[in-house]
Amino acid sequence: MSLHVEILSTGDELLTGQVVDTNSAWLMDRLWDLGVMVRRKTLVGDDRVDLDAALRETTARAELVVVSGGMGPTEDDLTTEAVAAVLGVPLELDEPSLRAIEERFRRFGRTMTPNNAKQARFPRGAAIVANRFGTAPGFSVRVGRAEVVCLPGVPVEFRGLADEWLLPRIAARLGDVPASHLVKLFGVPESHADHAMRPVMDDPANAGVRFGFRAHWPEIHVKWSVPGPDARARSDRIAAAVRAVFGDAIWGEGKDELPAIVVARLAARGERVALAESCTGGLVAELVTRVPGASSVIDLGVVAYANAMKERLAGVPGALLAEHGAVSEPVARALAEGVRAAAAATWGVGITGIAGPTGGTPEKPVGTVHLALAGPRGTEHVQRLYRGDRDRIRLTAAYEALNLLRVATR
Ligand code: ATP
Ligand code: MG
Repeated sequence: MSLHVEILSTGDELLTGQVVDTNSAWLMDRLWDLGVMVRRKTLVGDDRVDLDAALRETTARAELVVVSGGMGPTEDDLTTEAVAAVLGVPLELDEPSLRAIEERFRRFGRTMTPNNAKQARFPRGAAIVANRFGTAPGFSVRVGRAEVVCLPGVPVEFRGLADEWLLPRIAARLGDVPASHLVKLFGVPESHADHAMRPVMDDPANAGVRFGFRAHWPEIHVKWSVPGPDARARSDRIAAAVRAVFGDAIWGEGKDELPAIVVARLAARGERVALAESCTGGLVAELVTRVPGASSVIDLGVVAYANAMKERLAGVPGALLAEHGAVSEPVARALAEGVRAAAAATWGVGITGIAGPTGGTPEKPVGTVHLALAGPRGTEHVQRLYRGDRDRIRLTAAYEALNLLRVATR
């Protein structure tokens, strides 16, 4: 069974470019997992005329309209009023919601303004969705043949209420929930991934399965969603086929994160790493130390930008720098070996490259990066030429370093 779902995001900040509408992207992703592709998304500002019109239009088409935002206490929060107006019903105070809001203010020691009571008023007949993530409850009403679900725009609240209340309801309404799965690749361009997946996607046994690719730079995600009663078993068979296609380019599945995988592997092996970064400016150290428990696996991170500091802090011989230049295989190796020795760590990582936009030459164009991993079995080196702007080159290089560590700690 499919469901016609539309999303209506509201807020001036979404139209001025100050805030990106991540709520709808997040919800679309979750709905995709349930086998539902959202049919349309509408974005309107804090304007009653536009909001009323958008509510009329979406409810005329959809079976379910999810509204994000405009549930707050201020003048520009218009969603509840607009829904009541479109329905032609008055707003009514919900006592339990008012008490919950008062209680929340007491708990945080804040004074409640009369405005906040506004958040306890709902269109007559609405089903109220208590919000333990914030102040404003959500609600659901029927407008014509559509169900309209209004949720607060603050992302933790939107996601919290959607996960806790909305998505389970949609799943129940759909009956058979498809089995979906996601594998994460690194180092495979999206077009190659699509090409390599062809035999799996075209396999008659996988008829009715929806496949999707998403570039979540620098990761590539391959997803599929299998409908029907034996969905789980079919999805598992697809996973086996996909693993055979991509092999070691798959670094994770589902909710896996590359830095967390690397930290977990190092921790499990009782090993530690030291980093000497030039063009990534500490990005690898940042990714690693963001993972809770990183202190058990990382000893040292040096950002050695100037050649003199590559010599002094990472033990790179001056002669190597003079002969090969800072962006070279010998210097990447020396950085990795030098920082490994300095920290007496199991692994040493060295990264040196040209992130651009200037500084490239015909021999070493922008995007050239040398990475080295020094370890118990010696030092390996890779040379890459990444495309994209400075941010992209730096992030890709940082992922490459993590990926080298992942493969080495298999
Ligand atoms: P509040 O009670 O905080 O006023 P609200 O339901 O009225 O909640 P908004 O006022 O629309 O929600 O938005 C609150 C904050 O949440 C905004 O400042 C914005 O940063 C963020 N936000 C709103 N809508 C979205 C969205 N669609 N995607 C991501 N962030 C959003
Ligand atoms: Mg608001």
